[in-house]
Order: sequence, then structure tokens, then C-alpha cells
Amino acid sequence: MKKSLTLTTFAVATALIASVNTTQAAERELRIICFGAHPDDCELQAGGTAALWASKGHKVKFVSLTNGDIGHWRDAGGPLATRRKKEVQEADKILGIITEVVDIHDGELLPTVENRRIVTRLIREWKADLVMSHRPNDYHPDHRYTGVLVQDAAYMVTVPFFCPDVPAMQDNPVFMYYPDRFQKPNPFDPDVVVDIGGVLDKKLDALGVMVSQFYEGGANGSHKLLPEEPEKQKGRHQEVRDGFARRNASLAERFRTQLADWYGKDKAGQVKYAEAFELCEYGAQPNKERLKKLFPFFSN
Ligand SMILES: [Zn+2]
Repeated sequence: MKKSLTLTTFAVATALIASVNTTQAAERELRIICFGAHPDDCELQAGGTAALWASKGHKVKFVSLTNGDIGHWRDAGGPLATRRKKEVQEADKILGIITEVVDIHDGELLPTVENRRIVTRLIREWKADLVMSHRPNDYHPDHRYTGVLVQDAAYMVTVPFFCPDVPAMQDNPVFMYYPDRFQKPNPFDPDVVVDIGGVLDKKLDALGVMVSQFYEGGANGSHKLLPEEPEKQKGRHQEVRDGFARRNASLAERFRTQLADWYGKDKAGQVKYAEAFELCEYGAQPNKERLKKLFPFFSN
């Protein structure tokens, strides 16, 4: 009798500790690292979701794997890289997150072992729970190789003698992709779609400080985009802002069915602006419960 009581007490105590641990795990700070090829890609693809995470006290870092030094029709080189780094730092301050720009030339990113080490170290140092990147069949070579490099790091982050200077991860993070429109070999198919309506203005404000890319048009822009009269400049700013809002509205429209999986049909029908993410087959493979912990924005 005594033995069975002691065992019962032990079982209850173990269950209590397990429940406390589960609660702590549910509430603990999340750490997310997003990779983009250029200083603006992460902000475009995940700026709203990052602002949501940041507002709940989670830690987000945006990394650009190139310095963006050919991303303008008039300017290039060091001065453009410096300008774009400042732009992205200002944008990420608005979102409430950390930023890093890796000093690799724009248009020249390759999936080398050296770059695999850079990406592996960044993921480990951030102690990431979740890692995001472009898909490896996006249109721009730097986007594609960002996707390849992040995929190549997805297993290596756990291997102790690859980059032994930074401790290997005990838990493999979850890896996810940003959306694109490319159909071959397979179209983007999101696993999580996030309502960003509540932070849309913050995202648009952040994109709005990246003048070189959006008001001036980046690599494919021209002087014609830059009106001299202040009224016309205001018009240009509004035009850019409206364009980005439409882009996030079209994601909500395109993935309305998947929104319903997370918000329920009624609520999903009212979502105006969204960001979407697809699970990578490498890295940890989360179930819906784990995804809800990684994206703690759904009430149902
Ligand atoms: Zn880009």
C-alpha cells in the first residue's frame, strides 16, 4: 500500500513537472531567422509576420545574404551597399527586429561551402526555432542560391564537426519558404497563412523607408520615377504603398482556403492581407500543434 502510494505521488509529481514544462515550452520566447538574397526581400515576404512576432516579445532576425550593391539603375558599389544597409536597418527598427547584411556582392551569390558555413553559423548563433528563405526555384539567381544554401544548412546545423567553432544544434529547426509564382517543377503550396491586417501599416511604413528600391525603382527603375514637385512625390509614395497592400491582399485571396484551416471559415473570409509560408521537407517536420506554437496568432 505504502509502495503504491509513493508510486502514485511520484507519478503525480512527474505529471505536474511535465505540465509545467509544456506550459513553459508554449510560452517561451521564439527565435526566428529569415534569409533573403537582398536587403528588402525578407521585409517584403515576412515583414508583417515579423512585426506580429515582435509585438509578442519573440526575437526575429532578417539576414540579407548579399549587400545589394548592383540593385539600382543609377548607383552601384560601396555607396549603394551602404545606402541599402541603412535603409534596411531603419525598416527593421520599425518592425522591431534585428537586421544583418552579409557583405557578398549582389548578383554573385553562389552555393559554395564557404557560404554554407556562413548560413550554418548564423542559424546556430541565433539558436533558431524557425528558419525562412526563398524557394530554390525563384526567378533571381541570388534568390535561388539563398534557397539552396539554407536547404544545405538544414541538416548541417546539427552536425557537430561541421563548423565546430559554433556548437551544433541539438534540436533541428523548422525550415519554411516564402511564396513565389513559379510553377515548375512545383508551385508554392503554403502550410501556414497569416493574417497581417493588424500590422499592415507598420509593414508598409517599413517598406516605405527603402527609397532606393521602391520609390526609385531599384535595378529596373529610372529617373522618370522621381518627380521633382512635392505633390507628385507624395503621389508616387502612395502609389508604391498601394501596390504593396495589393500584393498582400492578393496572397489573402489566393490562399483563402488555407486561411480557413487556421482561422476558421468565417474569420478567414474577412482577412484582407496575408503572408504565406510553405514547409521545407528538410529540418524538423512539425505537426499542426507545433506550427501553432511557432505562429502564435491563431485564436482557434
Ligand atoms: Zn531579391
